[in-house]
Parts: sequence; structure tokens; C-alpha cells
Amino acid sequence: MNPTISQKHPRGLYVLFFAEMWERFSYYGMRAILLLFLLDNIRGGIGLPAAEGAAIYGLYTASVYLLTLPGGWLADNYLGQKKAIWYGGIIIMAGHIILAVPGGNILFFIGLATVALGTGLLKPNISSIVGELYPEGGARRDAAFSIFYMGINLGSVLGITIVGYLGQKINWHMGFGAAAIGMLIGLIVFRFGSRKYLKGLGDVPPVKIRTAESDAKSGANKKLGYAIVATLVAFLSILQWTGTIDMTTAQGLAQGAGVIIVSVSLFYFLYILIAGGLTSVEKKRVLVLIVFFLAAAIFWSGFEQAGSSLQIFAERYTQRTFGGWEMPSSWFQNFNGTFILIFAPIMASLWIFLSSKGINPPTPVKFGIALLLVGAGFFIMEMGSKVAVTGQLASPLFLTFTYMVHTIGELCLSPVGLSSYTKLAPKRYVSQLMGIWFVAASLGNLIAGLFAGGFDEENLQQMPALFQQVTLFSIGFGLLLLIFWKPVKNWMGGIQ
Ligand code: GLN
Repeated sequence: MNPTISQKHPRGLYVLFFAEMWERFSYYGMRAILLLFLLDNIRGGIGLPAAEGAAIYGLYTASVYLLTLPGGWLADNYLGQKKAIWYGGIIIMAGHIILAVPGGNILFFIGLATVALGTGLLKPNISSIVGELYPEGGARRDAAFSIFYMGINLGSVLGITIVGYLGQKINWHMGFGAAAIGMLIGLIVFRFGSRKYLKGLGDVPPVKIRTAESDAKSGANKKLGYAIVATLVAFLSILQWTGTIDMTTAQGLAQGAGVIIVSVSLFYFLYILIAGGLTSVEKKRVLVLIVFFLAAAIFWSGFEQAGSSLQIFAERYTQRTFGGWEMPSSWFQNFNGTFILIFAPIMASLWIFLSSKGINPPTPVKFGIALLLVGAGFFIMEMGSKVAVTGQLASPLFLTFTYMVHTIGELCLSPVGLSSYTKLAPKRYVSQLMGIWFVAASLGNLIAGLFAGGFDEENLQQMPALFQQVTLFSIGFGLLLLIFWKPVKNWMGGIQ
């Protein structure tokens, strides 16, 4: 075995691994029972109509990832990552405690908003601080993010299983309480672990550290920055005022979420490019981040159909009875996390091995491969749906292979994307740009949800064509990246 493969990682990585694992336990665990709780009117749930429940669920997941942008900004400018993670975790735990108290609808929504705010504060910062453990960057930082990503998925598998079980089988609020306990364990790990193993990292907001870079920040045009933010606010107000979107109700917000997310991202990139005081090398790197943002949004809009069209396919059209026992369709949700746990170590070693040979594919190529893989997964689904339209149930192997291929794609894009965002972002903007990375996920989630709207039982015949559209779109963008990887790599300015 190549000696670099067994290279040790700093202990701080494992502190972040376990802290994030427990945070994800609470996030994915709660998310697994959220929609069920919103719709339930038998076991003490809220009993909303399906459309309203789905709107609130979609809004919640979209806003969690949208709030990572202000969360990252706060850390960059005022808090530093450590405090942001700590306060974020406390807010998340408080949110879950509120959810655990059976106290009526208003209280429940306050709890939900609290969890979203806390996650916005914690998520981008715990990711960006991983990068700081590896000042040398390189393939080792990529490998570290693959390990970190295993923590994320270990948390998600445990959370979906345990919180899901307690919530569905015993009592909803017991499930929410378990999520609060998960976050508490994460906080304890972080508190004690970070004192010892993350010394000197994330203590000071990057903007306050005097370096040549922060001096350039004085070149940042604050007035122009405020003007851009004011234009965004004015733009959204006009949309509200003219009735184009309605931000006063959950359903209106959910319907307008696409416009809101796209305009926030667009204005943010404008702000940083025009008013951020960037050097020309930094500007090019931010352009690369925009390309990665687009690729990620497309990737997640296919991938996140795991919870929408693929879940419908599992429930209605997949053969799930084995020897008289019927597998619950929701079990397919855990395939992804399980495949991650299998493939992440393999991929992490692969990147290090390839880079020791000098043939580690550059990031735009990995992103291109990820998009081809998501397309390939939908090609498999197209084949599966051709069986389903004949009236037969499709073999579970279709979904299994799709999830496997999608997971390998996810490993080419998601941990790699986290890593390259930390490398390419100008240091004083690192956490807010990490936030923008998650905004791509927010957009992807939203598109994935909308796409599933086309899956009604009357239009069964068009299912293969719908899957084919996703295949063509993702493969098309993937090929573009594979053709133009060189200029993108050149813009990265020597960063691997
Ligand atoms: N599953 C990952 C996580 O929870 C990826 C999230 C995302 O970027 N869409 O962190």
C-alpha cells in the first residue's frame, strides 16, 4: 500500500466528525418524521392537509440551507467559526426541546424556525473549519472531507433509524426529544474536544485578522455592498407588492422559494465580485465557485429526488415483498447513507493514491463525473419505469443500483465541493461562501420537489420520459464540464 494512504489525520478532525455526526443525527432524524407529524391527525400530530404540510416541509428544508449564507457571514465578520458552531448548536438543541414539548401549533413552528436558524449558523462553519486543519490544502484535505462526510452519513443513518422509530412507533415528541439529546451530545463533544484539539482555529472572525488579504478588504466597497443588498430587498419587496410572490403565508413562500433563492444567490455573487475588493486571481476563483455552484444545483436537483420521485417509485411501482414480508418503502432512504459508509473510505484512499501517482482528476473533472453518474442513475430509472408502465412491479434492483451510482456521484461532488470551496474562497469570505455552497443544495432540493409534481398516477405513461429529461440534462452539463475542465482549472490559479 502506498505510505501516503495511511497518513494520519489530526485529532481535531475527529472532534468535528463526531460533533457534526450528532448534529446530522438530530437534523435527519427530525426531518424523517417531520412531514408525517405535520399530516398526522390520529396520533397527536398537527393534521394539516397534504399540500400545506408538503409546503411547510419544503420550506423548512429550503430555509435551513438558505440560512447558511447569513450564518457563514456572521462567522466571517463577527463570531469566528467556533462561537458560531457553539451558539448554533445551542439554538438547534433549544429548537428540538421546543418541538419535544407538546404545546400546540404556534409553539411547534417556533421550534422549527429555531432549528433552522441554528443549523444556518452551525452547518457552514463546522464545514469550513475542517479545511483550516489542513493549511497545506491538497489531496489530504480532500481525504479529510471524505472522512468528515462519513460522520455526516453515520449521523443520518442513526438519526433516521432511531428518531424515526421513536417518533413513529412510540410518540412524536419522544422522537423530537431524541433529536435534542443527539444535539446535546454533539455540543459536549465539541466543547471539550475543541478546547484541546482545535486550539487557535476559528477563534477570531477572519475579517479581523490582519493579513495582506484583509488589508485588501479595505479596498472592498462597503457602500456598493449596501447598495446591492438594498436592491435585493427592493426587488423582493416589488415582487411581494405586485403579488408575484406572497411571502406572508407558508404556501406562498414555498411557491416563491425558487425566485427568492435564485435572486439571493445572484445578488450575493454580484456583491462579492463587484464590491468584495477581490484581486483578479480571487475573482477568477470566485467564477470557478459559480461554475461549481451551478453544477451542484443541477446535481442535487437529480439526487434529492430520493425523497420525491424515487420515493414515489419505491412506494407504488417497486416489488418490495420478499417471501411474504413487505419491506417499507421508506427503507430505501437509508440506502444512500449506507452506501456512503461503504464507499467513502474507498474514494478517500483513491484520491490520495491517484494524487501520489500525479493523476488525481482535477475538481471540475470530478464534478463532471458526478453529473454523468447522476444521469446514469436516471437512465437506470428510465429502464425501471419502462417495466412499471406495463403494469408490472419493477425489481428493487433498479432503485438499488440507482442509489449506488448516485452515491458514488455524491462522493465525487459533495465532499470534494466542500473541500474546494474552502480552498478557493478568499479567506475572509470562506464561511459565507461555504454557505453559498449549501444554497445550491437548497435550490436542488426545491427543484427535486417540484419535479415530483409531474408524477401523478394518471400520467403514468410519461414517467420514462420524465426520467430521461433528468438524464439528458445532467449528462449535458457534465459533458460541458468534461470538455471545458482546462479553462476552469486554470482559473483556479494553481489550487488543486
Ligand atoms: N448530506 C450532506 C449533508 O447533510 C449534504 C448536504 C448537501 O450539501 N446537500 O451535509
